[in-house]
Amino acid sequence: MSCAAGPPRSPRSRRPARGAWAWSVRRLLREVAGVISPVWCAGCGREDVVLCGDCGELLRDLTRRPFRAEEQALALPLVPPAGGGEGADVELVALPAVSASRYEGLVARTVLAYKDHEVTGLARVLAPALHGAVTGACAQLHPASAPLLVCPPSTPAARLRRSHRPVEHLLGACGLRPASGLVAPTKSAALRSLLPGAGQKARGMGARRRALRGTLRITAAGRRILPGTEVILVDDVLTTGATLHELHRALAGAGAVVRGAAVLAASRRRSPGAEGSGRAASACRPTPRSSSGSARDE
Ligand SMILES: [Zn+2]
Repeated sequence: MSCAAGPPRSPRSRRPARGAWAWSVRRLLREVAGVISPVWCAGCGREDVVLCGDCGELLRDLTRRPFRAEEQALALPLVPPAGGGEGADVELVALPAVSASRYEGLVARTVLAYKDHEVTGLARVLAPALHGAVTGACAQLHPASAPLLVCPPSTPAARLRRSHRPVEHLLGACGLRPASGLVAPTKSAALRSLLPGAGQKARGMGARRRALRGTLRITAAGRRILPGTEVILVDDVLTTGATLHELHRALAGAGAVVRGAAVLAASRRRSPGAEGSGRAASACRPTPRSSSGSARDE
């Protein structure tokens, strides 16, 4: 099964010229700064290299076995099991999610350096990892055709903070093209993202879900393309699943058939009951959850 590319980009979906100039200037300044400033290995701090050979080898080892990670993310949407029918008696399961790795240690440091500090040279090791998660998701979730790959859209605040779109950049680096211009933040969500304290990192699961609910809208292109189309969601880090829940809500509401998700790394659940439930417990099988008694905080 090949995972596919998104629809052709229309001229309307391209970034405005003024924004493109700002991005280009910001990236140029960062690259100049990189030339005159020392760099360190994102893993061990060794000088003059963004990732040393030892850390690169370890990272490749940590990311080469994609695994099912939905049981750790309690805010993922509940969906009927694949091939399990519909109706009131069907036991819903969390949206399947395949991760390349755990978000901890070397993986977390490398993802942070790439995403927040824009060490774009790390794409050479992170892109193959994300590619493995996407192809693993396609292999496990059996979409009938090559699915669209859809990433959560960036907020204006994220675009101001970063000169690149981390997930889209990684997909491009491994030869996959995400669909673009199908889903976007609502105007109110875009404005809120620019306010102080609007970040999600310090929020718990319930607060994240409440803050994200209704923040995405389907564009005109999305309304044309999405009905009946199979989709795999793609993101960098899976924490509570609240971001993918909102993306799923928007896409499914437009008629898309969301098969599951692929992520670069998945956090472990913080609750005491989750301790020790690592890869062995997240074997490649769906995780049944009661639709009425789940731990979700609607
Ligand atoms: Zn190193």
